[in-house]
Amino acid sequence: MSVVNFKYPLRVFYSEDYAVGSGLETVTKSRLLAKMIKEGRVPRVELVAPKIATEEELLLIHSPDYVEDVLSGKKKNIAAGIWSKKLLKSILATTGGMRDATIEALRNGRSGSFSSGLHHAKADFGSGYCTFNGLALAALVALEKVGEVGILDLDAHCGGGTADILKTHKKVRIADVSVCSYDEWRPTSKTRHMVEVVAAPGHYLKTVKKALKFLEGVEFLIYNAGMDAHEKAGGMDGITLEVIQEREMLVVEWAREHGVPIVFALAGGYTWSGLTLEEVAELHLETVKAFIA
Ligand SMILES: [Zn+2]
Repeated sequence: MSVVNFKYPLRVFYSEDYAVGSGLETVTKSRLLAKMIKEGRVPRVELVAPKIATEEELLLIHSPDYVEDVLSGKKKNIAAGIWSKKLLKSILATTGGMRDATIEALRNGRSGSFSSGLHHAKADFGSGYCTFNGLALAALVALEKVGEVGILDLDAHCGGGTADILKTHKKVRIADVSVCSYDEWRPTSKTRHMVEVVAAPGHYLKTVKKALKFLEGVEFLIYNAGMDAHEKAGGMDGITLEVIQEREMLVVEWAREHGVPIVFALAGGYTWSGLTLEEVAELHLETVKAFIA
């Protein structure tokens, strides 16, 4: 097995546009993370502004009517909030961030974007605050260079949007480990789809390991690194900081050992269960730390 040569610096995609246009925590936390990086909280990380997603790219993953509705502002109520030019800018920047991070990971072994993967966005409509599906775009971008792509979705909720867009794709393997059945989807292939809703904290890391085993053989990994599985960020009692830290190390070690380039997206992580947004951002910083280790 070849070893991926992780090159430094770790380039993470982010721009001020990510966090404008809506008050959604899923995007506003990116600003706090960027601040932590600028303060040097994790060494050897560089922030890079992405190019925005193009209409052509959006049409690879979404239906023409839906793309037209969102781009034109014809539909005022979209998944990420009330349509505005600023909100559209944010959506296109975060979607473009996943594309650019994927290209960077293909070149230098690993990368990420301080945007959500937006795994609830379906082919024909947005849902669960997700307008366009950055994970699905990342998969298609990676497939221009590699034979098979894996998506590891460890957000607390299931990624029914990603499945809706990519389920029939023969070159995409999806392992979805959640702690909540929201947006659960039905696998249609034993070899390409794994969906598990973990019912007890003691099963969590075992199921993550099972998911990584399931993904053996893919040549590129897209990691939806949700922190909402954490007991105080919207998740399950017993999924502590230590569990999250071990999870991040398991994923990155797996990529390194299997010689698989890896890209991360932030995904969920919320203040609903008592954390401040800074504390949520601190949790997401664990992913960056694991990527740099
Ligand atoms: Zn979630």
